[in-house]
Amino acid sequence: MFIEQRGSLNKEYTVIVYSCLYFVTGLIIIVTDPEVILLFENSSKKHVNSSYFLLFLLTLLGSKYLIKMKTLYFILSYILLVIAFVLGIHKNETVYHHTITFCLLIVYIYFNSLEIKSAKEMYQVLLTEEASVVKTLQPNTPLEEILTEIHNGIDKIASISKNTPATVQKIHRRIVKLLQNIAAKMQSTNNLYMPRLELVTKNMDADDKIYIEQECFDNQQIPDKNPDIGIIERKVVEYGISELAGFLKGIGKEWNFNSFFVSGCCKTPATVIGKYAIKMYGLDEIFSISDSVLEVFLNDIENKYPDNPYHNSTHAADVMSSFAYFLTNSKLSDSMTSIEWLGGLVACLGHDVGHPGKNNRFLVMTNHKIAVTYNDISVLEMMHASIIFKVLSNNTMNIFASLQADKFIQVRKLIIDMILATDLSKHFDILSYMRTKYNETSDISVREIRGDLLRLCLKSADVGHAAKSIELHERWCFLIIEEFFAQGDLEKQKGLAVSMYCDRETTNIPKSQVGFIRNIVFSLFTTLNSILASDEIENACLNQLKQNERYWESLAKQRNLSTVQKASKAKNESSFFPLLKRMTIRKGSLPPLCSRKVTKEFNMND
Ligand SMILES: [Zn+2]
Repeated sequence: MFIEQRGSLNKEYTVIVYSCLYFVTGLIIIVTDPEVILLFENSSKKHVNSSYFLLFLLTLLGSKYLIKMKTLYFILSYILLVIAFVLGIHKNETVYHHTITFCLLIVYIYFNSLEIKSAKEMYQVLLTEEASVVKTLQPNTPLEEILTEIHNGIDKIASISKNTPATVQKIHRRIVKLLQNIAAKMQSTNNLYMPRLELVTKNMDADDKIYIEQECFDNQQIPDKNPDIGIIERKVVEYGISELAGFLKGIGKEWNFNSFFVSGCCKTPATVIGKYAIKMYGLDEIFSISDSVLEVFLNDIENKYPDNPYHNSTHAADVMSSFAYFLTNSKLSDSMTSIEWLGGLVACLGHDVGHPGKNNRFLVMTNHKIAVTYNDISVLEMMHASIIFKVLSNNTMNIFASLQADKFIQVRKLIIDMILATDLSKHFDILSYMRTKYNETSDISVREIRGDLLRLCLKSADVGHAAKSIELHERWCFLIIEEFFAQGDLEKQKGLAVSMYCDRETTNIPKSQVGFIRNIVFSLFTTLNSILASDEIENACLNQLKQNERYWESLAKQRNLSTVQKASKAKNESSFFPLLKRMTIRKGSLPPLCSRKVTKEFNMND
């Protein structure tokens, strides 16, 4: 491409030199040829004018043909020429005509030189760009960056193309189209390395083809033979205790739904919130789930949540509520099938089930039995998904019992994919994948695209507390820090290197929160909303996220590290959460009698 550009520049210079020679030769002929001189002397002035005019027109047309002069310049030169000759006839001076004609040609050549000059400058820019692209694209460069470079290249070609001859522009347009097609295909593929089944099995007999298809290809891509039934509409769910029923209506509606309030009222927030949501969306009727199966299932999942400060069933319930908010307040609500609704809610409720309150890194470093079971690969997330399906394998708890085998595999895949995506070690990988593949115009009527979006929704809901009202956010922060510090204490006991932000002696809490919001949550929410394009998510979540970032920033400025150390040593982390007191008062504000009734109703294992 660049070589071609350089060739076209050289060609233009040559053409200009030829044009000048052509014009000068014409002049010499006129001046020196005796017959032409005779023509000058004997003919009328008008005749001489015509000779000059003809010569200039020939020069201009010749140049136009060779240089592909822009039409505007050509018309402009032509008009100037006519004006010059009209003036010339009027003034009756041959030398005057000669000068004007020559000047016009110079102006014309000057315009072309300008174009060539800017094209040459652009060419230099391209050379610099080329060097930087070669430097950027290393063997491990992610697809997103490669695609960005392709799009940059397309833009560069488009801008340089403006200053090139029409033929070159035509070639540029073809190259741009080709690059755009390649980029679009790269963006849309789910599969970078796996060859197509038809190509691999081309020369195989029928039996071998079936064997290869079954064993070597992902046979989970089961075609949708039975379309999902049921339209999801919010329903009012009858609930014994009116105060709580009124509160639960906020699920999916209120971004700042207060799950602490529910956990303050009863011991089983995940069961209460989960059951209410499943009934509210009419999923129990669509999938013929009896109240008893639903309650036993939710209770069993809830009971498998250890009593961690943060990773407990209140977190699960809160994540489900945030997830429902994303679905209800975006275009997803019109495209989601009933299976995706139920699968999504279950994935949320069980996404941290069995969490030991330590992170993957700790489990791997300590050769924990969970890490051994799952071969150090996304160990917690693998375990959470596995527990859900172990619970579901019990007939008395299988809320998916009414599904046919293909539908069950579909919902199982969805739940597993969603939970595995919550592994933070896959965070940037997934974000880059989503940004590369999707945007506001992506067709969410395609099941695979919705599946990818639901993964992103659960990921966002999982860290969604960072975008909640500052009171709620601060409370969640306090709890996660407590869990982190407990892990840090254990790491110290075991003589391991203390994980980042897990050392209660040195961690600067406000600074760690600024970093978490800025580096993880913000890019996640902006990516989510770049696809969902929801005003509600923009206003309720992203704006609050920015406010919360500013809040921690101001706290970080106020308190330097030494005060953090002092307070931490006194085991008084709560001094860094000025709003916590207000939240504690709100927690469980139902009358004590009501609380007991709710607990009794939902905690069937008691
Ligand atoms: Zn979680």
